[in-house]
Amino acid sequence: MSLNDRLQLRGRAALVTGASRGIGAAVAGMFAAAGADVAVLGRSRRDLDSVAATVRSHGRQALVVECDVTDPAQIEASCTTVEERLGRVHILVNNAGGPVFQAPVLHIRDDGWDRVHNLNLTSAFRFVRRLAPAMAERREGSIVNIGSIAVARPWPEIAAYGAAKAGLRHLTQALAGELGRRGVRVNTVSPAWIATAVNHAYIGDPDLSETALDMVPLGRWATPDEVATVVTWLASPAASFVTGADIPVDGGFAVAM
Ligand code: NDP
Repeated sequence: MSLNDRLQLRGRAALVTGASRGIGAAVAGMFAAAGADVAVLGRSRRDLDSVAATVRSHGRQALVVECDVTDPAQIEASCTTVEERLGRVHILVNNAGGPVFQAPVLHIRDDGWDRVHNLNLTSAFRFVRRLAPAMAERREGSIVNIGSIAVARPWPEIAAYGAAKAGLRHLTQALAGELGRRGVRVNTVSPAWIATAVNHAYIGDPDLSETALDMVPLGRWATPDEVATVVTWLASPAASFVTGADIPVDGGFAVAM
């Protein structure tokens, strides 16, 4: 079988959270290009419709599902809708996330801490708990959690986010151990310096951008497609013996001094 054949996702259905823009939108488009039907989840209907149009342009089925992933009832309803409309879910990408706010640890309130953990960690746990049993029953599934390089290189004023992403990395590894013999692979992709909305303030200011990129060996911002490529590989049979991994897509930032 050729490498190209092993990268194909034909006959598979994927659920991607936070698919309305940025990395999630790029993942949805690349999955469709590789042959998957894709359910795109997020809060912004208009943005999701546009991503769904990209999926359909590849001749694949797209399903738009409005879902705030911090609400367990919406997660349950979304998963049911996706299973009813697309059938089996073979691939789950827990991508919705972000730092939400910046504050020193001693200034973080309980509700802020909880909000960040709900978004970046608990939502992934709930999606996995809902969808992984059917994957394990069929002995086929790939789960990719989008982490952050903030785990390897803690960053000031986003400790709640870093702690939640560290929890997500641990959850990934625990699940890889628990689900491996049941045919389900679970991996983390940890990006940094990707040109998406969360980094607009840096990218829009040449001085800030230059200072930031001084810390990046490859010396540039990355496109969301550069993350989506790694996620697509992990989701595909090309990564059939890879589970429990945490793959940085950070231009070398994590290992730079
Ligand atoms: P964006 O801000 O561009 O996209 C975030 C996505 O998450 C949007 O689709 C947004 O959809 C969705 N989202 C946010 N809150 C919720 C919610 N409560 N319910 C449902 N969806 C939600 O960011 P990125 O594409 O950059 O980020 C994607 C992932 O990558 C995140 O997990 C982030 O932490 C991680 N990451 C990104 C880095 C980077 O350099 N860009 C670095 C490290 C990690 P909507 O608002 O429409 O609901």
